[in-house]
Amino acid sequence: MIPDLRLAIHLQSLDQGIAELEREIAALPKHIAEIERQLDQHLRRLEADRSALSGNQKESKKLEGDVQVEEQKISKLRGQMVQAKTNEVYRAFQHEIEFCEKEIRKFEDRILDLMSESEALEKNVRGAEVSLKAEKKQVEREKTDTRDRTALDRKQLAEGQAERDRAVARMSPAAYAAYERIRSKRGGVAVAEVVEGLCTVCHMVLRPQFFQDVRRNEEILYCESCGRMLYYVPPAAAEEAAPGPSVLS
Ligand SMILES: [Zn+2]
Repeated sequence: MIPDLRLAIHLQSLDQGIAELEREIAALPKHIAEIERQLDQHLRRLEADRSALSGNQKESKKLEGDVQVEEQKISKLRGQMVQAKTNEVYRAFQHEIEFCEKEIRKFEDRILDLMSESEALEKNVRGAEVSLKAEKKQVEREKTDTRDRTALDRKQLAEGQAERDRAVARMSPAAYAAYERIRSKRGGVAVAEVVEGLCTVCHMVLRPQFFQDVRRNEEILYCESCGRMLYYVPPAAAEEAAPGPSVLS
């Protein structure tokens, strides 16, 4: 295989590794932003439950005070009732006492409702406090992991780029220019292996004579359909001639 073709294959493997690292480096901060957003949402839900609980307790306390006021009124009315001179006045006191008792029942019903609401709220708040503690720890852990991962990615990216520079320096300028031109037009894939007479990227069947020419790997030939550089790996030599493991993998 001529060096330019071998280098183009190597370059493509490096470029794919570099692109993968760049994607990961770009995606990691988005992942952190997402888990922080979720944590924030859970914190706000907890705050809302806490403030609902404190509103509930305030209302209960106020209602208990209201009950006391009504009870004091009743005992005062009872004191006045015994002094009543006529049945009419007596009944009027009775009515007023009944009214106060009705009020007390209304307040007490509401207090019971509030108690059952507060049980659910307290349970939510306690549960959220526990799970938020774990979630905060998890977010911190993921942030640390992400920082480490990003640092490693950047190191590998720098190594890949240095390796790429060395490969480009060894390539003829014309072959490298062709490689870059095809890569930018063809979704980042400039080189295609031919297997059983087919371009493995666009799946076009090569003309028999053209396939024979490609098999020799003695010049850079381009797929007549997708325009990519073609190479052929003889079955027996597959292991030896296939693009070696990239430094990025
Ligand atoms: Zn093709």
